[in-house]
Formats: sequence, structure tokens, C-alpha cells
Amino acid sequence: MLNLQRFFNSMNTFNVIIIGGGAAGFFTAINVAKQNPDLKVAVLEKAKTGLQKVKISGGGRCNVTHAEFIPQELVTNYPRGEKELLGPFHQFMTGDTMAWFEERGVALKIEDDGRMFPESNSSQTIIDCFLKEAEKYKVEVIYSSGVLNIEKHDNAWVLQTKTEAFYAEKIVVATGSSVKMWDILKTLNHTIINPVPSLFTFNVTDKRIKNIPGVAVQNVTVKVLNTNLESTGPLLVTHVGFSAPSILKLSAFGAVELAEMNYDFDIEINFIQQEFNQCLDVLKQLKQELAKKTVFKFAQFGIPKRLWQKLVLASKIEESKTWADINKTQLENLATQLTKAVFQVKGKSTFKDEFVTAGGVDLKEINFKTFESKLHKNLFFAGEVLNIDAITGGFNFQNAWTSGFIAARSIAD
Ligand SMILES: Cc1cc2nc3c(=O)[nH]c(=O)nc-3n(C[C@H](O)[C@H](O)[C@H](O)COP(=O)(O)OP(=O)(O)OC[C@H]3O[C@@H](n4cnc5c(N)ncnc54)[C@H](O)[C@@H]3O)c2cc1C
Repeated sequence: MLNLQRFFNSMNTFNVIIIGGGAAGFFTAINVAKQNPDLKVAVLEKAKTGLQKVKISGGGRCNVTHAEFIPQELVTNYPRGEKELLGPFHQFMTGDTMAWFEERGVALKIEDDGRMFPESNSSQTIIDCFLKEAEKYKVEVIYSSGVLNIEKHDNAWVLQTKTEAFYAEKIVVATGSSVKMWDILKTLNHTIINPVPSLFTFNVTDKRIKNIPGVAVQNVTVKVLNTNLESTGPLLVTHVGFSAPSILKLSAFGAVELAEMNYDFDIEINFIQQEFNQCLDVLKQLKQELAKKTVFKFAQFGIPKRLWQKLVLASKIEESKTWADINKTQLENLATQLTKAVFQVKGKSTFKDEFVTAGGVDLKEINFKTFESKLHKNLFFAGEVLNIDAITGGFNFQNAWTSGFIAARSIAD
């Protein structure tokens, strides 16, 4: 099958070269080599070791995938890639990921929130599995070999590193969010969607959340004012602002819009999932029922006490006032704080060091049946190099596995 007469004698000639030894790169290489043992397969990795993000992922536990087994549901977790991944997920789903690892002796467990981890609770288990499989199927992994240039000569791809050239009939770019590689891909006429961060928390300085880090509300709705961005879910007060799924979802789905706003915008939080008027009615009722009780002391609507007290003070209700004491304006103030409290966001922070990059190779230029470039035959992509990213929960790795598997199958056929 080797079709590279000019370079035949070179040790550096392969049927398939995968650029990047991360999650997507290893997964692709192993699956190509397993499915077609006749192919000579190499991984070129710029660092001294591979799989570095796998190592640190999921707090060192590696959140491999998510227990969502319906493709139509799974895709809703991808702000970029939702439409395009539906077909691929019908080919290689989360259940296939489980089976793939289990066949190789790596059992996965499902946590209450759906995240899946190796039973060992150690990302090293995943790394060991990949290294063993790569060796078993004779994938040549060449470290300290960053690709600096990609050119096509006749039917061969020529990859230039600092010290040598490599030749291959087919290549897979699996370099994650590497700006340098995106620049190289531009020289091959690929369009790169401008990269911006995704998965971050919001910085807010406000006396309503001062000195109460750790306070969490189970189910809030957060809107970014003057946009269509809205999300529902848990909210956590941190030392510097807000975090937890309601915020992370907004950061992912709003990655591009929020970057354009320079991370300077207002959010409106409904802490109790009731409309203003509905809440006001309840407050009026409480005024009757709890007339002699102090408003400040007894939290209502299931809101954590420390947050309730901040919202009461923000409504201009003094600590000593009873429900009977408060007037109509104060009741309305409290209803506003509970159902449409506005906070100013100024800047962002990383979430437990986890982040992904929105942006990358334009999805219009990819054939999603094969993950091959529509512009160049025998050029494939896998993983985060594409303009695909997801919310936190194991979905980003699932993209690496699905794209890697399908690219591998197309190559090996
Ligand atoms: C701290 C942290 C925790 C995370 N935890 C999770 C999690 O638990 N679950 C989840 O689903 N997602 C998680 N993510 C996201 C996930 O790690 C990425 O989506 C995933 O690693 C992408 O895989 P990839 O192979 O496309 O890219 P990468 O894993 O980034 O791999 C790319 C590889 O290419 C190499 N490379 C780059 N340029 C070149 C070049 N020119 N030549 C040769 N090699 C090159 C890099 O050195 C790297 O090894 C986490 C991210 C971070 C930062």
C-alpha cells in the first residue's frame, strides 16, 4: 500500500502519521494499527512525553466520558459541534467508549452526576492502557518531534520537524488547541475560527456575595443581559464570584459572545425559580403568617441562610425588622433580589484548572463521515483541533474518541 516511491528508503516513511500524541492522537493511532496491521503507523509528539492533558484531567482521575447514551441528547452538550457530531455519535458513542476500555481491562464507573471515570480513580490507568496498546500494535511514538511545516508533494505528505523530515501517505492532525498548528493549517487553505477560552467562572465583586464563599443554591436561572444567553442549574459563590454548572454552561455556550464583550457584562439571577409577581404574592403571605418574626433570621424559599441575609440587607430591610414592619417597597425590593438580582461581571477565572478552547478548524471544511478534510485528500483531523468543544463532564474526551475512531476506520479501510 505504501505509495511513496521517492521516499522508499527513508526510515522516516510511514503509511500513516498522526501529529500530536494526546488523547485523540493515541486513540486514532491505536485504532488504525489494530484495524489494519499492514500499515506502518507513527505518532509525532512535540513534547518529551505524550498524554499530558489526560494525566491532569478530571483532577487526576480522568473523566473519560459521560453516561448519556442517546446521541440526540449527547450532542446538546456541545456549543460548537452539536449538528456535526450527531452522525458520528451514531457511529461511535459513549457506550462504545466504555466497551473499548473494558475490552482492554479498564473498567469505568458512573458517578451520580453521570460522569464516568476509571474504577482506579487514576488517569494513569488510561495512559498505561494507551501505551500498552500502542506497543502491542507497533505504533511508533516519536517524542520531541514537533511538526513545524506540512507540505504535499505528489501523493506524499512531507512533515518537517526541527531536525528531520517525515513522509506519509495519510496524516491525521490531532494537535489540540495549538495556535502554531492552526497557522500551519492556514497555509493549506483551511479556515481557522478564532480561538477563545471556554469553561470559565465569572468574576464578581459585590457586597451581596462578599465573605460567603462556598454558599451554593441548587437550581437557579442565570441570564446574561442584552443577549439570548440563559442557563439553569446549580450556582456556587466563590472567593472571586460565581461558579458551578449554571455559570460554566453560559461560559461555554457564550464563549464567543462573552469574549467580544471583553468579559464585562451584567447577569440577572433568579435564585428561586419563581416569577417576580408570584414571589411577591408569597412574600405578602409570609408578612401575614410570620408577622412577629424577624425577616433577617429565618431564610425562606430554601435559600442558604447566609445568602438570604445578604439579599435581605440589599433590599434595605434592617436586621431587626419583623415581617410586620416591612413596607411595600421593601417587599418589592426583596422580590427583585430573589427573582432578578443583577450582578456586574468583570473578568473570568479558570475552573479547577480545566479549560478548553472554542475555535479551530472550520467544520464546514470537514467530511464528518470520515473526518477527512474536504480540501485535501488523505488529511484527517481528530479532537480539539477542530472547532468542537463541550461543557465539562467528559464530553470533550468523547469528541476525541469519536473523531479518532472514525478517522482511524476511514484510514484503515
Ligand atoms: C486541566 C484540564 C482538565 C481536563 N479534564 C477533562 C476531563 O476530565 N474530561 C474531559 O472530557 N475533558 C477534560 N479536559 C479537556 C480535554 O483534556 C481536551 O479536550 C482533550 O485533551 C483534547 O484532546 P486532543 O488530543 O485533541 O488534544 P491534546 O490532549 O491537547 O493533545 C494534543 C497533543 O498534540 C501535541 N502537539 C501540539 N502541537 C504539535 C506539533 N506541532 N507537533 C507535534 N505534536 C504537537 C501536544 O503536545 C499534545 O500532546 C480537561 C482539560 C484541562 C486543561
